Amino acid sequence: MVTLPKYVSLTSGHAEGMDDLTAFDNALKDAGIADLNLIKVSSIVPQGSRLVPLREFPVGSLVPTVYTVAYSDKPGERVIAAVGLGLSPDGRGLIMEGHGTGSREAVEDLVRRRVEAGFRERGLELHEYYVVVAEHVVQEHGCAVAAAVLWGDELEEMPQAWETEAWTPDVRFQVRVRQPVFSMRSPYQHINIVDTFQFGRMLWLEGTVQTSEADHWVYHEMLVHVPMLLHPEPRQVLIVGGGDGGALATVLEHPVERVVVVEIDQAVVQAARDYLSFIHQGAFDDPRTELVYQDAFTYLREKHGPFDVMLMDTTDPVGPAMRLFTQDFYRLVTDNLAGQGLVAAQSGSPWLQPEVVTRNWRAMKPHFDHLALYLASIPTYPGGLWSFTLGARGLNPDQVKPEVLAKRFHERGLGTRYYTPEMHRAAFTLPPFVAELLK
Ligand code: SAM
Repeated sequence: MVTLPKYVSLTSGHAEGMDDLTAFDNALKDAGIADLNLIKVSSIVPQGSRLVPLREFPVGSLVPTVYTVAYSDKPGERVIAAVGLGLSPDGRGLIMEGHGTGSREAVEDLVRRRVEAGFRERGLELHEYYVVVAEHVVQEHGCAVAAAVLWGDELEEMPQAWETEAWTPDVRFQVRVRQPVFSMRSPYQHINIVDTFQFGRMLWLEGTVQTSEADHWVYHEMLVHVPMLLHPEPRQVLIVGGGDGGALATVLEHPVERVVVVEIDQAVVQAARDYLSFIHQGAFDDPRTELVYQDAFTYLREKHGPFDVMLMDTTDPVGPAMRLFTQDFYRLVTDNLAGQGLVAAQSGSPWLQPEVVTRNWRAMKPHFDHLALYLASIPTYPGGLWSFTLGARGLNPDQVKPEVLAKRFHERGLGTRYYTPEMHRAAFTLPPFVAELLK
């Protein structure tokens, strides 16, 4: 008896040697699965299907699969394969394939258009769209494969899906996944969006939690409102990183003229536009917003200031964000800062990343008249207690009276769930073990 597949998962791989089965096998091995008998099936997804992460299969299982392959024998050529899955509100769906050698965006776009056309032809409404993309730069001859794997009831007995972040080599943070939403590898990082039972929708970059539906507002209110309310008239604002749009949306609650977001990875902004509207709330399309896709180091070296407030909403100091936690970077930051200006940076966990707190403090220290650390409680960040570092020039944050903060807070009509002028003051009171890190 054949059981109809009820579950779909997306995966991708690549290989040298024009061997799509090896590439596909690589994709499955990456997902912890190997040695399967594959069959190609129709790309109509059975009604009521759900997208789930890949799971372990018994060796020898027959697994229905839809996959696409991009081949090339031109060294240096980039081959791209993509599979898109669309689901209607009642769970009916289609899988479409596409491949090419052009830009990744063009192939993704082609697949999305095929899914949309398939839905139009069947009079269905496209409610959810997922895509997996594989890329490979060919050395001699090679290929990229993207695939959707479908299976049936056996999944019910399979172990639950979890996302894991290694907080330190000895501590892991694990969240049970309700439903995977989007996953791709950009030129900079692995972008992963999942719906979870505890924290709602979450954005992970390179295996690290960036933001969650449950607590994003703590981070964004504290990163943004603290410097923005200390400044009497913040008109020109720069956000470094911030591709999820949460800091941007929060800045736009203030009477600003222009907010520049310098984000290195366009794919993060696209994923946020598609799946994280509760965070950005349409802020990318606000007329005051200017989006720049560039390394912030390069952008600031070109000099675009002066900015009244600058916010460092970056990933942790690994990969492309490494250079943003250095004295050289903060020299460029202050070159672009107005005479009366404030800079706030997310600066790590005092419990589990004390070296990041200290490193960032040392990087900022020489460049500001006033420097202070403040804290907020953010459950999805390592250790739960998170630090921000505030640098000021031309004004002393300590001398901005609580009544002034309260007046600005009310005049600007801010609606908050964590920040209040009282929380603002309290956040700068440090336990001795944290103050110790700044000596
Ligand atoms: N709230 C988050 C956190 O602390 O985990 C930060 C969120 S935001 C998504 C971080 C962004 O910084 C990422 O989208 C990443 O692409 C961007 N980024 C990293 N390095 C960068 C650089 N050198 N220039 C510009 N943006 C950068």
